[in-house]
Amino acid sequence: MRKLILSTDNKNKAKELREILKDLPLEILTKQEAGIEDLSVVEDGDTLQYNSLKKARELSVLVDAMVMADDSGLFVDSLGGAPGVYSSRYGGEDGNDALNNETLLKNLEGKDRKASFKTVIALITEDNQEYTVEGECKGKILQSPMGENGFGYDPLFVPDGYSRTFAQLPSSVKNSISHRSRAIDALREKLEEILSE
Ligand code: IMP
Repeated sequence: MRKLILSTDNKNKAKELREILKDLPLEILTKQEAGIEDLSVVEDGDTLQYNSLKKARELSVLVDAMVMADDSGLFVDSLGGAPGVYSSRYGGEDGNDALNNETLLKNLEGKDRKASFKTVIALITEDNQEYTVEGECKGKILQSPMGENGFGYDPLFVPDGYSRTFAQLPSSVKNSISHRSRAIDALREKLEEILSE
């Protein structure tokens, strides 16, 4: 069976992906499970595409298997696309979710609140073919946080067509419309194509 190695060591992300792709003939492993212990990639690009490809490339040279890496962020038009690739550290280098959310609210005062979560997944095959797929979820940013679920900017983000935030909606709803799940749908299509070659 072909192996797909993830650039993450997050066991929950791996479990979720195994569940979603369980009908494909693939053994899905975190990089740690594949024996890669000390790979730490500096995400210094200014696009999700660049960062996800960088993470995938640095892993790909270490293993004889397919690899994938993802990168996500929140993009606000009226802020010129910020926080974007800097989403996890918008409130400062040692930022946390609360500080990031506060910074976003402050910078958005008086501005249009249309926003979009995006995910890019980079996939590299054993013979070094590179692919990227994307997922997007459009919505808007509230004036103050609502809800306890999820992480990151979830308490501020209301997806289009809904009246509650990602942090108020059940995770099953978030997972059916999120940027990440849409990128994984696109990844599945790409993998089906590659596996049938
Ligand atoms: P990552 O690339 O998945 O680590 O995401 C980078 C950052 O984007 C996170 O630290 C969050 O600040 C933000 N982010 C990405 N996805 C989500 C989401 O589904 N909800 C809320 N925030 C998110």
